[in-house]
Formats: sequence, structure tokens, C-alpha cells
Amino acid sequence: MPRFLSIPALALITVASLHAQPAPTTLEGLDYNVPFFAGAEYDPSIPTVEELIGFRPGDRAAFPAEIETALEAWDDASPRTRLVEYARSHEGRGLYYMVVTSPENMSRLDEIQAGLARLADPRGLARAEADRLVENLPPTAWLAYSIHGDETSGTDGALAVLYHLIAGTSAEVTELLDDLVILIAPMMNPDGRHRFLQQVAEHRATTPNVDNQSLIHSGYWPWGRGNHYLFDLNRDWLPAVNPETRGRIREAASWHPLLFVDAHEMGALDTYLFAPARDPNNPNVPDRRGHWNSVFARAQSEAFDRHNWAYYTGEWNEGWYPGYSDAWAEYRGAIGILYEQSGYAEDGVRQQSGALPTYREAVHHQAVSSLSNLRSLQANARQLLGEFAEERRRSVAADGPFANRTFAVLPTRNASRRERFLDLMRLHGIEVHVAGSEIANLSGFDQLGQRFARRTVPAGTLLIPNRQPEAPLTSTLLEFDTRMGDSYLERERQAILKEGRSSLYDLTAWNVTMLYGLEALTLDGDLPEGTSPWSADDETTQNQRATPVATGPVVAWVVDGADDDSVAIASRLMERGLEVRVASKAFELGENSFPRGSLVVLPADNVFFDGDIAATLNDTTSELALTAATVSTGLGEGELPDLGGGHFTLLERPRIALVGRDGISSTDYGSIWHTLDHRVGIRHSQIEMDALGDTDLRRYNVLVLPDGWLRSLDEGTTRALKTWVEAGGTLIAIGGSAHMITSSDSEISGVRQLSSVLDKLDEYELSVLREWMVARGETPAAPRVWSQTTTGDIDYPWDGVSDSPRPGEEELERRDRWQRMFMPQGAFLAARVNQEHWLTMGVGETLPILFGSSRVLMAGASAEAPVRFGVLTPNRDAQSRRIGWGPAPAGSDLRLRMSGLLWPESALRIANTPFVTRERKGNGQVILFAAPPTFRAATLGTTRVLLNAVIYGPGFGARHPIEPL
Ligand SMILES: [Zn+2]
Repeated sequence: MPRFLSIPALALITVASLHAQPAPTTLEGLDYNVPFFAGAEYDPSIPTVEELIGFRPGDRAAFPAEIETALEAWDDASPRTRLVEYARSHEGRGLYYMVVTSPENMSRLDEIQAGLARLADPRGLARAEADRLVENLPPTAWLAYSIHGDETSGTDGALAVLYHLIAGTSAEVTELLDDLVILIAPMMNPDGRHRFLQQVAEHRATTPNVDNQSLIHSGYWPWGRGNHYLFDLNRDWLPAVNPETRGRIREAASWHPLLFVDAHEMGALDTYLFAPARDPNNPNVPDRRGHWNSVFARAQSEAFDRHNWAYYTGEWNEGWYPGYSDAWAEYRGAIGILYEQSGYAEDGVRQQSGALPTYREAVHHQAVSSLSNLRSLQANARQLLGEFAEERRRSVAADGPFANRTFAVLPTRNASRRERFLDLMRLHGIEVHVAGSEIANLSGFDQLGQRFARRTVPAGTLLIPNRQPEAPLTSTLLEFDTRMGDSYLERERQAILKEGRSSLYDLTAWNVTMLYGLEALTLDGDLPEGTSPWSADDETTQNQRATPVATGPVVAWVVDGADDDSVAIASRLMERGLEVRVASKAFELGENSFPRGSLVVLPADNVFFDGDIAATLNDTTSELALTAATVSTGLGEGELPDLGGGHFTLLERPRIALVGRDGISSTDYGSIWHTLDHRVGIRHSQIEMDALGDTDLRRYNVLVLPDGWLRSLDEGTTRALKTWVEAGGTLIAIGGSAHMITSSDSEISGVRQLSSVLDKLDEYELSVLREWMVARGETPAAPRVWSQTTTGDIDYPWDGVSDSPRPGEEELERRDRWQRMFMPQGAFLAARVNQEHWLTMGVGETLPILFGSSRVLMAGASAEAPVRFGVLTPNRDAQSRRIGWGPAPAGSDLRLRMSGLLWPESALRIANTPFVTRERKGNGQVILFAAPPTFRAATLGTTRVLLNAVIYGPGFGARHPIEPL
């Protein structure tokens, strides 16, 4: 009796119902029966894919539920497998990996895992013991498929590989399983895959379609690439925001794989790409990867040649950004291999040659690639394991390449952000120490690249020695400024000059402290004296303890506004019906001092609240591990604000609509959606861009337009938005949407793009100069002010600056077009922050901003610019001068580039332009962001500015009617 009949009846019922999916149409003349592994023999007691789900791998793409059915059945049927669920997606789908190895290895799996962990952290490991482990341990391979849900063939290929390994009876298969522990994660993004396959099924017709532009092959917004919140999970290995990623990092790391395969799809008319990647190679990836990538590629190409399949390596594929699946694995010691199969969801997309490859053929490629890579690992197992052990020894060696550097993260009142940083370090297996008391005489450099020779860091500073088991990963996550080699720089320059575009595929900067907006230092030398290992148990910041608030008579409750989570608390309190104020200025009441942005809840504001104010506050703050302090006086010290004065603004509950669909970037939309839903936890509506003009906008007082593709608003939408803003709405537009709103004849905003105001630069320059005069508190000398004689002796703010005169308009335009070619792909730029503006509450004086755009905003007299690019640092010798379109004052350098590639030409365009603008329109306001503030939900520093805008905007910047009872 075939073993599969023992599957629980429930599973069979599920399968039967899935058969209702219409089958793809087939094309005459195509061969749908090519065997994946010719001549292979299989154990008949192991059910085939067809027996389990009704069709063979590649006949069509399998739905997540079908894959789950197959995995569970095989796990029941075979002694070679162990199925592990490592996470649940946001939509509740299981994420799995299957351990496949010989029954002998299976019986000592824990011992194998422990042995590999010992090699991975060789501190205290005797050489002889290490050698013995290298001789005896089977290495592990992690094969992962279809992290992009609409790149389907990898997952179906994984089903073919799994069956081959689980049921195969040939010596080739059994020896592979003797020699290796194989870990197969067949479906890395089940939510995206389900969404996409549903789209494919919706467009399936009775006649076949061979046009790759047709919706059956492409899908539609938001497609299937992202997960539920539309994140690109193949960029999430660094920030690890999503449950899918977090589960994978924990599990994959625990196996220390030496081979890590990441199977994707690319354009439908392409062929097949595999590793090695081309330059730029990240210097933190150990050199030997290049050699091994070539060894694996040689074998893979031979396997493809045997079938006469076309393929290539390199070309567009580079591995500079470390948040890809295969890249992350390389920092931890694996040979990372990317597959990119030409992508089509169904059979027979016509190629340029006229050929009509079947979907099964795409799946076949993925399966053959996987087997080839496994064999290469098998053939080189001892050498690779030996090199892995050696690499780890060097990572922790006192004379190793990582021994002379320590990263320091300075203490902050923003406890939740610090906790997020520590959580990320913990997840990535990076060891953190903490300074028990202040540590003096440290040398190193800061995030602006300024060296110091004797600096003291306070108690509570986090110290992360680069010398530790995960040294390369530590390096790439924390070093401030990873630089490309000269030869690559030259190549990138050539690409821009020849083709007008960058040859880079993703960001050029990503370090975690800049992403998170945490002030950090790079210190020379190993871990200093006076630190102890950080552990979650001894974290004693006051904010970690949620204690009940006083229940007796109080004048006010206060929540520290330095903490990012205070914004979430404000919004949740408003949702629960409480009136909340936010302090626009720092204040001191009784014993306590609080920064601007702190929340104040007054009993006097809440006389109509029909609940227990203290209990509601307590419940809400406990959800986020914060506490509310009680104060018993409303009188501030000295000139500091008193509670009844004008510095405590009453908030207005935000009624938020997030605009999505056509023309809107699904990833930016998703990151904002995730932030509102998970970080803040506030109700919000999702509405359609195309229907904006016909939507009753009066239901909302905040509209968020995420980044998108530049196009113009039609007349009806423009009118609707304008009317709504003037009636009191807060319109927030980001990136491409902001630029759309600032088109040269915009009626919604007075902010413009640089290219359209080259004839009015004096006006914009003056705005910058006025801000500096305010910041410096400049006033003419008193005798001159009070003098009764008029002398004509006046200092103009632009004195000195206009000594470098501007060229004529035609030349300015020509320069602007030239400079625009060199705009960054994603680099950290330093921005100066106005410490008095409500949009910057909770933000320090310098804000690192991840910027990748070809456009910049220009704010003149009609708009505020609370965050501008460029930070002033002292330089006694510097004269007043003009840098690009704007000024640089005497006695200062203007620092802009913090990390990543920023060509000098683009720096001239970006310096002094705003990251965020705010302008009043009627009773409402328009807030524009030059670049996405919630990029990948990882840029916590700039996210705070967006949260202030969304949650505090209706109270701070807009006028609302008082509704009579
Ligand atoms: Zn992909």
C-alpha cells in the first residue's frame, strides 16, 4: 500500500478542494514531459508531488497551502526529513524549512549543530578539537526559494529537489545525504505568493497567452513581490523588521550553512543568472568567496551546458548592499549563490528568439542548479569547513583583522529606540558590552568623519567590539563609511557618463546607527577596560519599568517625549477618548524636567472623559513599557513654561487616510502602513490614488501620499485636495508625490523644485541666511542701534557670499542638468535640525538622512524648512562663500556626506535644501518630504519626523473648529 494513503483525511480534503484551481492551458508542440533528473529511481513508498497535490512540479505554480500539504506528508513518510516551522507570516501562513539528511545524521542532528556552533565561536576551542570537528562534521547547506512571491519557479523547483532527495534511491542521492545536512526553505514569502497566484488564477483563460505584458504574467498592484505589508523581504535581512526574516535569521544562523542558495526570477525575456556577482564587492565579505563562487559557477555552467541552456553571471548583479539573502549569509561564512530565472507565471512566454519555454522548464532550471550546487559543496566539504573554522579564528584573534576597532553607541533618553537597536544586535548574534562608568581618553572618529584624540564617553554607552565571532557582519552593520575601491569608482563614473545612470543596484550606505538616528563613535582599538557584557536582564533604564501612576489628586501626568513610543501613546490615548497636550518647549515641574515633545494629560482637559484617567493612562503606557510621571504643580521653574500657558498644545485626534494603488510605490506605502499599524497602532483608512477626486475627504484630517512615480494631478483632484487642505487638512506628501505637488504651477504648495527656480535663487538663499541669523542670535551692536546718526553702514546677510557671483541663467541650467546626472542612489547625508519646530520633537541636532533621489525641494519665504541638508562644523579659516546654489557662512565647514557614494556634483545641488517643509494653507497645512522617511521601516531617525507630522499635525499646524455641545 502506498505510504501516502496514511496522510490524515483532513489533508486529502484540503487537497481536493484546491484542485478546483483551473489548470493552465497547454500549447501544442511543447514538451511537457522532460524528466527533471533523467534516470533517477525513487522509493515508491514516498508519495510524489502529483500524488499529494494533483500535479507535477512545474505543471503550474503551487499555492502555499499545497506546498504545506506536500511538506507535511513527506515529513510523515520519510526518516530522512524533519520539518521545522520557523515563523508565521502576517496573514498567518506557516514558513518552513525541511531538514533532509541521512537517517544516521538525523539521529545526531543536535550533536552536528552543536559542533558547528563550536567552530563558529572558537574562543577556548583547542586546535586539535577544532581539527577533529572539521574532519567529522557534515557541513550544512541552506537552499531558499522565492522570497519574492511573484517569482514563483524557485518554490516549485524546491518541491522537485525535495522529492528527489527524500525519495531518491541512487548512490548519488544517499551519499549526498550522508555527506551533508540539507536545509530547504521552499517558500520564503507565502503571503506574496498566494496574492500573486490568485492574480494569475483570476486572469487565466481558455486560450493560452504568450505575451509577457499580459496581466496573467505580470500581476497588478501591489503585485506579489512583497509580503503582507509589501516589504521587499530580500532587503530585510539587515533591518529584520518582518516575522519571516526574523525567523529565518534565527534558524539559518543556528546551522552555520556553508552554502546558501537564494532562488529568484528576473525579466521574462532574460535567460538564467547565477553567482558570482560583479564588482563592487563589499570589502567585509572575505576574499575567498570570489574563488569559491567561481568553483560553484563552473560546475553549474557545466550542468546547464549539458542541457544546452543559456545563462550568464555578473552583468547587473552586484552585492554591495548586505541585506540580500545570499549577502547576509556570506558575512556569516557561507558561499552565497543567487539564481535569477527568467520569470513567467505560466507556460510559453514568447522570447525574442521566438522560442516558447514552458513553466516546467523554468522550474527544471532551478532544480538542476540546486543539485549542482549541493554536489559542489559535497566535493569540497572538508576544505570549506576548514576555511570556515579558520575564518572564525581570525575573527576573534587578538592579532586578527578585526581586532582594532570598537563601535560606541552613546546613551539616549529615547529608550525604545535604544531597545530596538539592542534587539537587532541580539537577533544578528552580535555581542554588545556596556560601560559601567564613564570611559576617558578614547580616540577615534564620529559619524561626520571628524577625528578625536581624547574623548570621554558616559556610563551606559554601548560598546561593540568588532573582534567577535560575527566580525564581518558586525563590521558591515556598524562601520560608518564602507568605501568602494578606486577601480569601481571609475567604472561607476563611466556608467553615468556613458549611459546617464548608475551601475549600482541598491543602496550605497546602510549602517545601523545612522539608520536608527543614534549617535555613535568608532573607537580605535579593542574593547576598552571598564565594560561588562550587556544582557537584557540588567537593563535598568527607568523607562523599562512600567509602574502604576499615582491615583490621588494630580495636576498632570507627563510622558517623556524623547521616546519614539510617546507618539504611539499620544495616539492611543486619543483613540481612547482622552485629551492630550504636547509640550513645544522643554519644561520643569516639581522634581522633574522633560524635553519638548513630552505628553501632558490634564484632569482639567478631561472633565467629560467617562472613565478612569489614571487607569487608562496606565494601561496605555504599559503596552509600550513606558511610564507616566505625575506632577503636583503647574508652575514651571523660572522662565520655563507653566502648564496653563501657550507651550502645551492640545492635540486633535488624527483621522488618517493613507493613499495607495496606481502610481504609488508599493514598498513606501507598505512601510508607512506597517509603521502606523505596528509601531503606532492607530486606526487608518487606505484609499485609492485614482479615486481621490471622488472621495469624501472630509472624513479625514490627515492624508498621506507615499512616494510614487512622478505625474501630474488632474484638475479635479487638485481642486479637491486644495479645498480640503484649506478647510483644515494636513496633507503629507513624500518623495515623488511631493515633487508632483511642487510642479512649477502648483496651487497646493509654494515649495518648488530646484530646476524650476534657477532664476530666483537669491530668494531661497536669503531664507537659509535668515535661519542662520536666528540660530546665531545675531543683532547689530547696541550703540549702532541706539545711535541718532544714520550712517548707511549696514551688514547684509549675503555679504561675502555674493563675492562668488552666480553665472547667468543659461549656464545655471546647464550646470544643474549636469549635476543632476550624479545624484545619489541611497547615501547617508547629514542634516541640521531646527530644535524649536514641532515637526522635530524627539530629533537631535544632527539627523542622518538616507537620500536617493534625482530631485531636491526648495523652500522660500512661504514655507518652513525645519530640517535642511548640511551640518555646520567650526573652521576658523573659512570665509563666507557660496556652495552650489546656497551659502556657507564664515567660520564653518558645511558637512554633508556621512556614508555612501555622493558625487561632489550632486552635493552642490543637495546642500542647504530641505528634507522636510511645512507651509500653512488656509486652515490647514502641507508637509513635504524630499525622500521617504520610513525607508524599509528601518530609518527610525527620520520616521520620528513623519510620526510627528501624522499624529501631531492636526493639533499643531492646522486650525479646527471648536464644536459646540
Ligand atoms: Zn527576486
